[in-house]
Amino acid sequence: MKLYEQYPVFLTNSLTGKKEKLETQIPGFVGMYVCGPTVYNYVHLGNTRTFLSFDLIARYLRFLGYHVRYVRNITDVGHLVGDVDEGEDKIGKKARLEQLEPMEIVKRYTEDFHTVMRQFNILPPNIEPTATAHIIEQINIVKKLIDLGLAYEVNGSVYFDVKKYNQSHHYGILSGRNIEELMESGRDLDSQDEKREKIDFALWKKASPEHIMRWPSPWGEGFPGWHIECTVMSTKYLGETFDIHGGGMDLKFPHHECEIAQATAANGKPPVRYWVHSNMLTVNGQKMSKSLGNSFLPSELFSGNHKLLEKGYSPMTVRFFMLQSHYSSTLDFSNEALNAAEKGFKKLNNALTLIKSLHLQKTAVNTETEKVLLQQADNCFQNMSDDFNTAKTLAVLFEMASQINSWAAAKQLNVSEPVFEKFKFTYVAMMEEVLGLKEETGGNNELLAGTVNVLINLRKKARTDKNFALSDKIRDDLKAIGIQLKDGKDGEMSYEIE
Ligand code: AMP
Ligand code: ZN
Repeated sequence: MKLYEQYPVFLTNSLTGKKEKLETQIPGFVGMYVCGPTVYNYVHLGNTRTFLSFDLIARYLRFLGYHVRYVRNITDVGHLVGDVDEGEDKIGKKARLEQLEPMEIVKRYTEDFHTVMRQFNILPPNIEPTATAHIIEQINIVKKLIDLGLAYEVNGSVYFDVKKYNQSHHYGILSGRNIEELMESGRDLDSQDEKREKIDFALWKKASPEHIMRWPSPWGEGFPGWHIECTVMSTKYLGETFDIHGGGMDLKFPHHECEIAQATAANGKPPVRYWVHSNMLTVNGQKMSKSLGNSFLPSELFSGNHKLLEKGYSPMTVRFFMLQSHYSSTLDFSNEALNAAEKGFKKLNNALTLIKSLHLQKTAVNTETEKVLLQQADNCFQNMSDDFNTAKTLAVLFEMASQINSWAAAKQLNVSEPVFEKFKFTYVAMMEEVLGLKEETGGNNELLAGTVNVLINLRKKARTDKNFALSDKIRDDLKAIGIQLKDGKDGEMSYEIE
């Protein structure tokens, strides 16, 4: 039996608002598309949270035994400033300001994006298509939509006819927006608009003379609209209907709503079975964003070199910080939260190093302990299969880490070998493969564990000799450098790194 049959995944589908069982189109295979970055600037920590959320989903599905084809695009044209249909291309604007070619901008920020992804141990997707490499496919789908009578050309630009689409389909199905209200609210804003209705959106835009990124098309020289890119790149590599489409919550409307409309209109069926939206990273309750000036770069977070930061944090501490909340909840950034995350991650990391190198002497098997440990291992899977609940999984890993510390202190194994192996496998795999929390060695932790054990033994000896001054000194000096000794049952001692 495959792990995904043993632990079926339930995920919240934004389309229905319900937690649903994942039934993939082809048993054992998952096709997943996630909207990638628009590469016109350095990625900030907020962007990173979204990609981390979907990295986790891809990792867990793979771990359960699914063959996952994960497609995450790079938007390198067509995303206009303000996410609207008029105005400058984000990449074109940056190129103008920096006096560079747009493709130089694209290269620079794609490289930066990849570096940041590696730093956070976010695995690359299986396919990473770019919008500029799919112009022909985009022109073809626009032609098809015109032929179907669901798109119209005006002055070299082509727009999707939302009102017409809505006669036989439901525009607003994902976001819950009401089309009548949308049409009313926008009516008087821009009388110059060449669109039939304000709510219509661009599929293809005519390039003005100064616009550098341009391609020939049946409607003259122009460039594709932002929404159509994702429809083309997702369906080209995953099929007209695929399993999971992800993205940040802020893309639900209009971006994803438009994707549903275009694809449904062109292919006669809805493109996606499960829509998954991850929530925002906030600062003092406000979405982190470049335009609000409350964003910072991962490199600033690592070095601590930013006015909002008290000090620097390691990439895995930040990853841990993000995993502590569910992907669908907002996560507020603060120095306190990061300090707490640093302590928490250290605990788990230390237990990870320990369990890889434990040499334990076998002793009488405690069947009660065995039961608890097997339950913990099972709980990790149950929690992850319940809408990828990393917060709950981490809580179980903390319990497991305490067990690892007690074993290390006692140097004795009170459970059978198969139970220990299952426990160890689950702890290591959940940490490294599923949560992607790489072991951070910060010096040599194995050596550290050995050294602390030498000191623990010296302290025991001092106590037996009634040399309490020395035993206290060992305890206090270790505490001063952040290592806390803990007295356990039967005079056993363990330690925790604070
Ligand atoms: P962009 O490059 O602006 O298209 O954004 C790339 C991705 O980052 C999108 O999927 C957004 O949903 C996501 N994003 C932007 N700001 C935040 C934030 N503060 N928290 C989480 N995700 C964000
Ligand atoms: Zn997209």
